[in-house]
Amino acid sequence: MAGRAMRVVGWIAAALALMSSCARAEPAAGDRDVAVVIDAGHGGYDHGTSGTRTGVPEDKLNLQVAKKLEQALENAGFTVVMTRESDDIQYDPHSGVSRKTQDMRQRAAVIESAQPGVVISIHMNKFPDGRYGGPQVFYHQGSEQGKLLAEAVQNQFNAHIEGSDREALSSGGYYILKVSSAPSILVECGFLSNERDERRLQTETFQQQLADLMLAGLLDWLEGNQPVASN
Ligand SMILES: [Zn+2]
Repeated sequence: MAGRAMRVVGWIAAALALMSSCARAEPAAGDRDVAVVIDAGHGGYDHGTSGTRTGVPEDKLNLQVAKKLEQALENAGFTVVMTRESDDIQYDPHSGVSRKTQDMRQRAAVIESAQPGVVISIHMNKFPDGRYGGPQVFYHQGSEQGKLLAEAVQNQFNAHIEGSDREALSSGGYYILKVSSAPSILVECGFLSNERDERRLQTETFQQQLADLMLAGLLDWLEGNQPVASN
């Protein structure tokens, strides 16, 4: 099948990139399928949270970051599948099922048919106390590889983003992390309740930095070679 062939080609390209960056590196993934599903949280009628000062809707920022991550991963040779490419989400008004449930089922169907090696869901955080800021990565509790992937991405954030010092955390409550048995992480890119985060999350530069650091963390995890976070 074309999709399968694409994934194989993507995997080979990723493996070659890894080998050229480190002569002795062996793909840690074995025969793992390395299609990456990127899930831009919310969208359609569901705007998610919003910026305290500017009112910027979370769903818009999620999609902007997700598209930058898509490009970064494709440039690195990965095959990427998006759960949504736009703000246009279709709902069946006669299904008797809530729009939120329909939306989540549609995302789950995309993930299941992609048979991904990794799932990355993009969100923005909010908290009553505006002092709290910085990106934070979540993984599904009990997933050992999910934990390692989350820590690899969090380490990249903490090493390169000003004010980033949070820890990767487990959660049992995120539906999107439970859909696939593949390592799945949810990245809260920052707090829309924090002045610095709300400002920088709306800039191309910071969005690109987030995408590049997520790719770097993914490659660290694939190499089984996580850098030590700076303290
Ligand atoms: Zn969200």
